[in-house]
Amino acid sequence: MKATLTVLGSGTSMGVPTIGCTCAVCRSPDARDRRTRPSVLLEYGGKFVLIDTSPDFREQAIREKIRQIDAVLYTHTHADHILGIDDLRPLSFRRDGSIPLYARPEAAEFLRSMFRYIFDADYKFGGIARVELKPIEGPIELFGARFDPVKVIHGETEIYGYRFGSAAYLTDFSKIPDESFAQLRDLDILFLDALRHKPHPTHSTVENSLRIVDRVKPQRAFFTHICHDLPHEATNATLPENVRLSYDGLKLEFEI
Ligand SMILES: [Zn+2]
Ligand SMILES: [Zn+2]
Repeated sequence: MKATLTVLGSGTSMGVPTIGCTCAVCRSPDARDRRTRPSVLLEYGGKFVLIDTSPDFREQAIREKIRQIDAVLYTHTHADHILGIDDLRPLSFRRDGSIPLYARPEAAEFLRSMFRYIFDADYKFGGIARVELKPIEGPIELFGARFDPVKVIHGETEIYGYRFGSAAYLTDFSKIPDESFAQLRDLDILFLDALRHKPHPTHSTVENSLRIVDRVKPQRAFFTHICHDLPHEATNATLPENVRLSYDGLKLEFEI
């Protein structure tokens, strides 16, 4: 089945421009240097699956004219991936039944305690998102497409990336365990964390992610979770032809 992936946000946790920063990338007039927090939207067969709810979800949803979300998959529970959860409210009110939120069991538990007011049956102030946590430890089928969690190492913790059809989305990792490479065969599209050039304890670099592209050999690779060290156009000029920095609003077609 044909699917479209839209990059909602391609930026690192602080976004680009970063508050208070006056560097060349933060002041760049190139729209592709304006990076909201990381998230992607998948559309296939009339269904819309969101990966992560970034703090910029409201702005992203308005920009991309999102009118429907049928499921959310969480990669992990860092603030830049979850804080937009409340902005699911208007979309959750527009549908029958609650929006399922899929996450690793411990991530689901974290969401439940972090956002107690949403999941607490006693909350009396109304207007809460109609969402439902669904812990997952293996592959799931959503609307006729299979989603496989791909375990990656993010600093000291193991989190999820996802493989779906001919594409995989791996945001936030410092290392991909050998076992996970088996899930990355025959990819058309591979999204990888590439924060910057300088090493970081919890994130991949451009150089490390290029080595992964060499090993996995997808048709096309896109970098995401990008900080203000990497100007879009100048960085792209240094990358192999099948590897590009992603940018907010980028749309890609693939088979799911
Ligand atoms: Zn992140
Ligand atoms: Zn993170």
